[in-house]
Amino acid sequence: VKISVCPYRRSFRQPLLTHHGAWSVRDGIILRLSNLDGQVGFGEIAPLEWFGSESLEQALSFCSQLTGSITAEAIASIPPHLPACRFGFESAWESLNQPQSALELADPLVSSKLLPAGMNAIPALKRLTGKTDTNSTFKWKIAVAPLLQELDWFKQLTEVLPNGSTLRLDANGGLSPTEACRWLEVCDATEVEFLEQPLPPSQFEVMLELDRQFKTPIALDESVSTLEQLKACYDQGWRGIFVVKAAIAGSPAQLRKFCQAHKPDIVWSSVFETAIAQQFIQTRLIATLPHSHRATGFGVNHWFCDRLDQSDFEHVWQTLSLI
Ligand SMILES: [Mg+2]
Repeated sequence: VKISVCPYRRSFRQPLLTHHGAWSVRDGIILRLSNLDGQVGFGEIAPLEWFGSESLEQALSFCSQLTGSITAEAIASIPPHLPACRFGFESAWESLNQPQSALELADPLVSSKLLPAGMNAIPALKRLTGKTDTNSTFKWKIAVAPLLQELDWFKQLTEVLPNGSTLRLDANGGLSPTEACRWLEVCDATEVEFLEQPLPPSQFEVMLELDRQFKTPIALDESVSTLEQLKACYDQGWRGIFVVKAAIAGSPAQLRKFCQAHKPDIVWSSVFETAIAQQFIQTRLIATLPHSHRATGFGVNHWFCDRLDQSDFEHVWQTLSLI
């Protein structure tokens, strides 16, 4: 199977501010596999180094040592420290070899829409909300400003949330245990869907305790960035919500197997990948698993102004190859 590789860069309309800092450009790699029959399969490597995957440089260096072709055995032996590469190649291989079996989703996926951190969330909420827009889910980043300031913003934000909509909060591991308790008290009083990764992954036991102690559930995200970590948390007794970013989790086949066996409570989420990885995750991974009632985290395409969210992959490829 012949392989071609094309790096891409996407600028955010405005930098994405999280507890990890500001992020302004998404770099990744598109893979195009083709066989002698002329069939084509696309894949995407979208690393997120600050989240625990390999770096873009490591991914590029892995691609550059391939000599224009790849086999199933080579893909199966991509090591665990290259989880985004493993996802990219395995998904491209599956798309190439099962071109006719693209599955339809039983229910269309509902995505949570990502709001910017701080007070910018309020004008963004107004832009994202149509007049008839109820039952939407929104996600707001916290732990980017002092606690009291954010609690005040939160109060203002909840006052303008459309009726019937749901809010989830994401601290990206940036709270102290005391701050997390304060947030959870406030969440319990206002009905927040969940508080995502309040503490750093090293404080797993404390998050386990918080999940028991409060009504508002905790969702693990940074703690479970790869399938290995997901399994480790599951083995240590986590039965709460897992945020899974399949594009950096490693082998999609192994992830599928784990989900089929254990039926964890999953929020499928994005690493700001293009439509190539998103479509694989939605139609070939999620569609093969039991339906989750939770909105996914794919409502992020409004953060970009390019056209890499379109579904004509050959066209995306041509466009990128010309740059
Ligand atoms: Mg998160």
